[in-house]
Amino acid sequence: MQVNKDRRNTIIKALQGVGIFVFSGFLWSAYISKAKANGYALRPPGAKKESEFLKLCIKCGRCVTFCPYDTLKLAKIEDSIPLGTPYFTPREIPCYMCVDIPCVPVCPTNALDPALLSITENGKEMMNIRNAKMGVAIVDDKNCVAYWGIQCDACYRACPLIDEAIRLEYKHNDRTNKHSFLLPVVDSDICTGCGLCERACITDKAAIMVLPLDKVLGSVGTNYIKGWDKNDEKRLKKLDSSSAKASDIKNAIDYLNTESL
Ligand code: SF4
Ligand code: SF4
Ligand code: SF4
Repeated sequence: MQVNKDRRNTIIKALQGVGIFVFSGFLWSAYISKAKANGYALRPPGAKKESEFLKLCIKCGRCVTFCPYDTLKLAKIEDSIPLGTPYFTPREIPCYMCVDIPCVPVCPTNALDPALLSITENGKEMMNIRNAKMGVAIVDDKNCVAYWGIQCDACYRACPLIDEAIRLEYKHNDRTNKHSFLLPVVDSDICTGCGLCERACITDKAAIMVLPLDKVLGSVGTNYIKGWDKNDEKRLKKLDSSSAKASDIKNAIDYLNTESL
């Protein structure tokens, strides 16, 4: 049966990665501690929150098998992330944002959840890879040569959501007084974390890199609201009701936002 064959192949791949099949209790707990301390893994599209993902993922490797680009790997012991779980390394192979997202519906436990990628179109719910939140690209402006004034737009050109997830911002170059900087700037609301920009970066170590959202994005909470932006209500609605009562949200319009600003 195909499913059993897929499962067997992926388990064999994972075991080959491990190299040894038996751990002593000490080695295993040391490994888990190291993995927890590191806590950095870019997951496939549609992955639930890391804590929930780790509870649900049975390490069957079906997402890995169905990825046509070999983007996804099962973690080996030396990867310092929970063993056997799927992840990807954009500098090696990014996610090519497949339109049909074959890695997601094959997940048997909903660790990769189609609902997290879905939109309703013509009354029909369907997955859209643009909704993926695998991470967010961050530009290291000290090492990005565009911030030095050297012309480079490799990351910008590589982005499947060009001029949406990443754009080039013009800025006058005061040093030469006759050129402009063309600076790559990422919109974290739109960036999917696919990593095509990181793969394309021309510097020795990428000056743009994808990191998990919870490692880089802050959270404003409910004390501040953009009174001038109706869309900001959506952010409040998304907040967990356990962390913000409706009355708190209603009262949270700060006077700074309601007055002259
Ligand atoms: S969307 Fe495509 S390239 Fe990206 S992880 Fe899934 S199958 Fe692989
Ligand atoms: S990770 Fe890079 S290439 Fe992918 S959507 Fe974000 S900015 Fe674009
Ligand atoms: S490819 Fe790298 S060096 Fe070039 S603009 Fe993008 S981040 Fe900067």
